[in-house]
Amino acid sequence: MIREPLIFVLSEKGKRACLLPVLDVDEKKSVTQGITVRKNIKGFPQVSEVEVVRHFTRLSTTNYCVDEGFYPLGSCTMKYNPKINEKVAGFEGFLVAHPLAPEEMNQGNLEVLKLTEDLLCEITGMDKFSLQPSAGAQGELVGMMMIRACLESRGEQRKVVLIPDSAHGTNPSSAHLCGYKVREIKSNSRGTVDLQDLAAGMSEDVAAFMVTNPNTLGVFESDIKEITRIVHSEGGFVYMDGANMNALIGTSRPGDMDVDVIHLNLHKTFSTPHGGGGPGSGPVGVKEVLAPFLPKPHIEKRGERYYFDYDRPQSIGQVKSFYGNFLVVVRALSYILSLGPEGLKEISEIAVLNANYIRKSLEDIYHLKYNSPTLHECVFSDLFLKDFGVSNLDVAKRLIDYNVHPPTMSFPLIVHGALMVEPTETESKRDLDLFIDAMKKIAIEAEKNPELLKSAPHLTYVRRLNETTAARNPILKWTPESKGKE
Ligand SMILES: *Cc1c(COP(=O)(O)O)cnc(C)c1O
Repeated sequence: MIREPLIFVLSEKGKRACLLPVLDVDEKKSVTQGITVRKNIKGFPQVSEVEVVRHFTRLSTTNYCVDEGFYPLGSCTMKYNPKINEKVAGFEGFLVAHPLAPEEMNQGNLEVLKLTEDLLCEITGMDKFSLQPSAGAQGELVGMMMIRACLESRGEQRKVVLIPDSAHGTNPSSAHLCGYKVREIKSNSRGTVDLQDLAAGMSEDVAAFMVTNPNTLGVFESDIKEITRIVHSEGGFVYMDGANMNALIGTSRPGDMDVDVIHLNLHKTFSTPHGGGGPGSGPVGVKEVLAPFLPKPHIEKRGERYYFDYDRPQSIGQVKSFYGNFLVVVRALSYILSLGPEGLKEISEIAVLNANYIRKSLEDIYHLKYNSPTLHECVFSDLFLKDFGVSNLDVAKRLIDYNVHPPTMSFPLIVHGALMVEPTETESKRDLDLFIDAMKKIAIEAEKNPELLKSAPHLTYVRRLNETTAARNPILKWTPESKGKE
C-alpha cells in the first residue's frame, strides 16, 4: 500500500494548476501576487491540477464509512443513510432558508418542524417533542433539567438519580451535570434491571430512574411496566434513553410503557449521517406533566399559522441556537415519510432478525455472558480467547483486515472483554455471512496463530498504534523517516 505524503512533499517550484496568457498590459499587483496566495504558510505547495485532484481523491478513500461496507458498531446504529434524504435536504427552499426570516416567510419550514415533532409523538407515544437538542447526550441533559424544574415547581429537592449498571456512560454524566448524585442499580442474571434492587433504591430522595430499553445488551426490559410503577409510586420520573429505538420503531411505544421523558437520536434510528463530527440531533419527548418545561421557543400552530412560542414561563430556556439542526431534521422527516408506517415497522423487525442471526451463528464459538434472545444487537465476550492470550482488542483490529469496521468494544461494562455487534436492518444476508465468516476465521487464527491477531491490522496505512500516544502526541506529518514511529 502506498502511503500518501503531505501535499507539501509533492511541491515543486513553479508548478501551478492553471497558466494565464502572457500579459499584454503593464504588470500591476495582480490577483495571484496580492490576494489569493497565502504568504503565511511556509513553503506553500506548488502543484499541478492533476496532482491536487489525485492527492485529495486518494486521501478521501482512506476513511472507512457506511457507504463502503459493514459497520457493526454496537449501540451506534450505523445504518446506511439513504441518498433520497440528501436530495431532499438539498432542495433550495430548505437550503437557503434563513433562520431569522420572518415566520410568515418560513411557514413551509416551520411546518416541517411541527410535522416531524407530531410524527415522533406518534412513533413513541409521547405527548410533545422538542427538536432543539443536537445530540443524544444533550437530549439527556435537557430531560434531566426538565425533571429537576418540575420537581422544584412542586417544592421538591430530590438529590439522587438511579441508573442501571449496564447504562451508557452519558447517562450518569448527564445526571451528574444536572447536579444529581448517581446510584447504580444492579442487573439480574438475565442482564435486565434487578427489580428488588430498584425497589430498595427508590425513596423520596430519588428524582428519576434512567433506563435504556432495550438495554445495552440488546435485551428488552420485559418488566418495564413494573419498573415505571415502582418509580412512580415514590413520586420519581422515568427517563428512557431511546438510542435503541431501532429495535422498537413501529412495533412498540415507550409512551405506552409509561415513561415520562425520552430522547431519540435522529443520527442513529432515523438514518441521518453519523460520525465524523457532523451535526446530529437528539430530540426530546415528554408526557404532558413535563410539557411546560420543554425548551423554548417551542413550535406551535394556531389556525393555519405556525409560530415559535416564546411565552413559556416554566421552560428550562433555550438549549440550542435557533431550533436545532434543521437540515438534519429534514433528512429524518424524508426518511420517515419515504418508509411510511409499514416500512418503519419492517426496520425493527429486520434489525432484530439480523442481530439474532449473527448471535445464533456465532454463539458456539464466541462466548455470550447473557445468551437470551436479543433485539437489535448482541454482546459477545473474549472469554474463550483468554487461553490463547488474545483479547477483544485483537479481534477488533484483525476485523479491519477483513474490511469490517470493528464492533464496539468493552461496553457495556457488565460484560468483561465485550464485543458488541449491531448489524442494523440495512445489511444483506450476504454481508452478514461475510462478517460471520470473518469472525469464524479469526477464532481459528486466534488458536493457530495468535501473533497474527496481536500484530493486526496488517493491511492498513498505519498498523497497531499506541492509542494513548496517538491521542496525546499525534504524528500527523508523514515522511519516510517517521515510518514505524506512528
Ligand atoms: C449513542 C448513545 C447515547 C448518546 O447519544 P449521542 O447522540 O452520541 O450523544 C446515549 N445512550 C446510548 C445507549 C447510546 O447508544
